[in-house]
Amino acid sequence: TPEVRPLVAGNWKMNGLRASLDQIKAMADGVKGSLSEKVETLICPPATLLYVATALCDDSPLLIGGQDCHEKVSGAHTGDVSAEMIADCFGTHVIVGHSERRTDHKETDALVRAKAEAAFAADLIAIICIGETGDERKAGQTLDVLKRQLAGSIPDSATAENTVIAYEPVWAIGTGLTPTAADVEEAHAFQRRELVERFGAVGGKMRILYGGSVKPGNAKELMGVANVDGALIGGASLKADDFLAIYRAY
Ligand code: PEP
Repeated sequence: TPEVRPLVAGNWKMNGLRASLDQIKAMADGVKGSLSEKVETLICPPATLLYVATALCDDSPLLIGGQDCHEKVSGAHTGDVSAEMIADCFGTHVIVGHSERRTDHKETDALVRAKAEAAFAADLIAIICIGETGDERKAGQTLDVLKRQLAGSIPDSATAENTVIAYEPVWAIGTGLTPTAADVEEAHAFQRRELVERFGAVGGKMRILYGGSVKPGNAKELMGVANVDGALIGGASLKADDFLAIYRAY
C-alpha cells in the first residue's frame, strides 16, 4: 500500500526461555541499518521475557510487544496480563484475537474488540488477528468470515496509527500451507475495501499483514502482493537467521 511502512512482526507464542534472548539480541543487531527506515520490525516474546527483551533492544529499531492483553485495566484476574503492564515493560504493540486465543480461550469478536480498546488506552498498537478456518474456506465462506471479524473485532476508535490488521488463515498457521498469491490478493483487497468503507481515508492506510507459514523462501512472493503491508510470523520468527531473511526480502 503506498505511503505505508510495512511491519515484519514475530509471534513467539509459548516458546522462549532466557536462553532465547540471544536470538532477540541477534535480531536487534541485524535490523540496524538503512532498511529499518523502510520496514518496521517487532518481536512478541512471552510476557516473562518482555522487560529484559526491551532492554536488549535499547539501541535498536527492533520493537517488542505482547501476545495478548486482558480487556480490563487491572484487578482480580489471576494469570492475566494488562495492556498497561506491557507498556510498563516498554512494549509498543500487543497482538489480540490470535486464532489460538480464539480457539483455546473461546475469545469472541466482542472480547477481541474490548482488548484492542484496552491496548489503545495504554497507548499500545493493537495487532488484530482475523482469518477463516479450513472448513470455512472449503464452504466458500472466507469473505463472509472476514467481513464479520473485521466488523466485530475492530473498535470504532481504530486509526492507521493504533491498529494493524493481521490476516491469518487458520489452516495456514503452523502447517507449511499457504494460500496462493491470487487468494491472498483477493482476501487483502476485500479487507481494504471493508476498511475504507468503514474508516474512509484512514482505512486506506491501516496496515494489513499476512500471516500463516511465512518463511524465507516464500516471503518475497507473499510480501509483494497488493495490500500486503508486512507479515506476522510464528515458527520462522524463533530463529534470528530466518526472521532476518524474511525482513531482508523487502
Ligand atoms: C502465527 O501464529 O501468527 C503464525 C503465522 O504462525 P506460523 O508462521 O508458524 O504459521
